[in-house]
Amino acid sequence: MVLDERTKAGPGPDGAGTAAVSDIPAWHVLTVREAETLLGARPEGLTPAEAQERLLRFGPNSLPPPKTRGPLLRFLSQFNNLLIQVLLVAAAITALLGHWTDAAVILAVCVLNAVVGFVQEGKAEQALGAIRHMLSASAAVLRDGHRVAVPAEELVPGDLVLLEAGDKVPADLRLVWTKNLHIQEAALTGESVPVDKASDPVAADAPLGDRRPMAFSGTLVTHGQGRGIVVATGSTTEIGRISGMMARLEGIETPLLRQMARFARTLTSVILAIAALVFGFGVLVHGYSATELFMAVVSLAVAAIPEGLPAILTITLAIGVQRMARRNAIIRRLPAVETLGSVSIICTDKTGTLTRNEMTVRSVIAGGQGFGIGGVGYEPQGGVTLDGRERLPDDHPVLVELARAGALCNDAALRETESGWTVEGDPMEGALLVLARKAGIDTGEEARRLPRTDLIPFESEHRFMATLHHDHENRGIVYVKGAPERILAMCRAERGPDGGDRPLDAAAWQAGIEALAAQGQRVLAFAAKAAASDHRELCFSDVESGLVLLGLVGMIDPPRVEAVEAVSACRGAGIRVKMITGDHAVTARAIAGQLGLENASAALTGPEIEALSDEELVRRAPDIDVFARASPEHKLRLVQALQARGHIVAMTGDGVNDAPALKRADVGVAMGQKGTEAAKEVAEMVLADDNFASIARAVREGRTVYDNLKKAIVFLLPINGGESMSIIIAIMAGLTLPITPLQILWVNMVSSIGLALALAFEPSERDVMSRPPRPAGEALLSRFLVWRIAFVSMLMTAGIFGLFKWSVWHGADVETARTVAVNTLVVMEVFYLFSVRYLRTASLTFQGILGTRPVLVAVAVVTGLQLVFTYAPFMAALFDTRPLGVAEGLPVLAAGVLLFAVLEIEKLILRRLGAQSN
Ligand code: ADP
Ligand code: MG
Repeated sequence: MVLDERTKAGPGPDGAGTAAVSDIPAWHVLTVREAETLLGARPEGLTPAEAQERLLRFGPNSLPPPKTRGPLLRFLSQFNNLLIQVLLVAAAITALLGHWTDAAVILAVCVLNAVVGFVQEGKAEQALGAIRHMLSASAAVLRDGHRVAVPAEELVPGDLVLLEAGDKVPADLRLVWTKNLHIQEAALTGESVPVDKASDPVAADAPLGDRRPMAFSGTLVTHGQGRGIVVATGSTTEIGRISGMMARLEGIETPLLRQMARFARTLTSVILAIAALVFGFGVLVHGYSATELFMAVVSLAVAAIPEGLPAILTITLAIGVQRMARRNAIIRRLPAVETLGSVSIICTDKTGTLTRNEMTVRSVIAGGQGFGIGGVGYEPQGGVTLDGRERLPDDHPVLVELARAGALCNDAALRETESGWTVEGDPMEGALLVLARKAGIDTGEEARRLPRTDLIPFESEHRFMATLHHDHENRGIVYVKGAPERILAMCRAERGPDGGDRPLDAAAWQAGIEALAAQGQRVLAFAAKAAASDHRELCFSDVESGLVLLGLVGMIDPPRVEAVEAVSACRGAGIRVKMITGDHAVTARAIAGQLGLENASAALTGPEIEALSDEELVRRAPDIDVFARASPEHKLRLVQALQARGHIVAMTGDGVNDAPALKRADVGVAMGQKGTEAAKEVAEMVLADDNFASIARAVREGRTVYDNLKKAIVFLLPINGGESMSIIIAIMAGLTLPITPLQILWVNMVSSIGLALALAFEPSERDVMSRPPRPAGEALLSRFLVWRIAFVSMLMTAGIFGLFKWSVWHGADVETARTVAVNTLVVMEVFYLFSVRYLRTASLTFQGILGTRPVLVAVAVVTGLQLVFTYAPFMAALFDTRPLGVAEGLPVLAAGVLLFAVLEIEKLILRRLGAQSN
């Protein structure tokens, strides 16, 4: 029956991987051998040449990019905006009133605004899309017997993929071997309980969730290990077939942007209400005609609404995200950009993040003797010394046996490449391979002599790894390596210097552990045990007792130089750095001291954390900076405890089990290189270089982005304020409008946006990392900023009105006076731009005057456009402008200088007052 099914569904006899893979839905009914034959797969994997050839034939293992909104839809959506709709209505009424030019210009402005929004949104999406590209996954495969990491896109049918906890399955696989393999298939079946996988075939009609010998692309390995042959790639995978889509691009939205959008909507309504009031006032009190007043009220609405603001904010965020990516911090969720600026505690892993994760074995304690190991890095050159004298390893059987255990209880590979010796896999295990070579062991030969029968993989919960081996006479042996306290507790005896066993001297070993750890060395213990010839499966009960301790290994893993600097930068920025590590407390404290953490003299260990109640942890956690022998579930409790004290916590992680803590943290940070897909998926940010320094830089950028958003707002709002106040005053007092609606549109849509855009590129202010973190939930517009906006609005109003009146006074006609007013406004904007670049400190500095390239470009462009606006005849036709002479130009410039000067004095006074009140 099963066979029938298979022949129906199966490929033709031409076999050997040539069949169109998508025609074969029944891999789960085939045996491993049959699947291998059909796919032309071998236990040692494809050769690189075969893989290359198949890649050409089957295409890359990737799904077509998700469909985004089409350009037309995106363009039309720009009109889905209250402001634009107000303008459109205004244009319609203006047309009805017979003001054709005005109507046309308002309409043109609406279209222009949509085009600008369209282009900017497109740019922002493009930038973010490119960053997302940097997150593509890699897969571990066997090629020609070697374990290599390849980009997931390069997988081909027939490839042998190695899976372990935390991996995202990179393609559809027929599993050929599993060890306690559990896979969460929610992405495919919606079922969140992980499925226990095995390699035996199942019935043909088994539903997707019951196809145990299959691992499907896009699902997540939660536990154990496995190997599988790729049967389908790209869009022929189950996930590709079901949906044909990948996770959609997340919208460009953050709490701040939402807040601003809401603010803009409210503002629009308020402005419309005020406009109505002013309209009524004008008709009733001054007896203006409705037609006449209508144009004035339209100008008010146009003047008051900050048209460019949403676009500017989006662009600022997108540019910040790009900058962070250039510094190896890849933002997965945009709100994290803002949160980063208020982080007050960073909890970070030690190994590989604060340290280089380039391990070198320095010491070995075995048979009651302490050996020194020479050499640097992964190059297997260096001798063994005892009491300072060179020794031949072969004279010390216990040393050789320990090195053998290290070589066999090991999943890494050591390779010599043009750029020197490199390690594939865990660097610590790489260091053990180097040690084995230094001890005279041929690691490849040893692996053939004692092939591995089974293993218990390392997990940070149990902190050891065990392997079972049988030689060709079928004698079995178990090797165990792991955290020394843990291994010590499993041992009943120790290996003597001559190779014989003797009773365990636990106290002496304890002293040895402490001595190595106190030097900041990472300590690992090794043990062995004989196994019966028919004992082929390894379980926890086999290794929990009765082991023979072979000895200890101490390795160094120096701190990253840049991490030391970054820690001190964080301290300066009021951010406390806490180290959370699975390592020994003494080792951890020694490294913490080298890194300059605030409190390296105390450590809290995992078991101690467990003994504390939640309240006690909340009380103690803030003052402790070293958390040792900690497991992922401790991370979660720690994040919660710190958050309970009101901290904004960034937490790093790499494993599957770190996911809950990453999710809970305000900014979850996953490691890009050694991190699992599971961790990356829930993280807000991914570090491309696994480096702590990148977190500190991201915080710096986060603060800068927030500053720049504030600057953009503080820059734009007073311009609207000045314009609308001028108009309200004019109407209320029954005066001529100093600026026409069209002229206001020109200023808002051209000059303001052009200048504000430069603020998105502002570099960090010098003190950005020497002020305390921004309190969580702090209002965006502090009292100071509200004051500044109001103050500058008044200055702008004074400038507009003042120069308008001054011109009229000097006999200018209304058109010329208005041209003067518009130019005054723009010049004040330009000077205000220089002022706003430093909100609190002086702008009249060398650096401040020099500006930045974007600032200078913006000023040059806006000046150029303003000259066209003032002197070009076609502009005069549209905007009713008049050419100005020097006599009119000079006061205009003076108004700008005056604004700048007044604000410099204001800053000085506020700084003085601030200094006094402190
Ligand atoms: P870290 O925070 O330093 O990365 P881990 O959780 O990776 O800590 O490791 C904790 C401890 O587990 C280490 O100090 C070491 O004693 C032990 N250990 C780490 N990796 C392995 C491994 N591959 N095999 C056996 N033991 C290991
Ligand atoms: Mg680790």
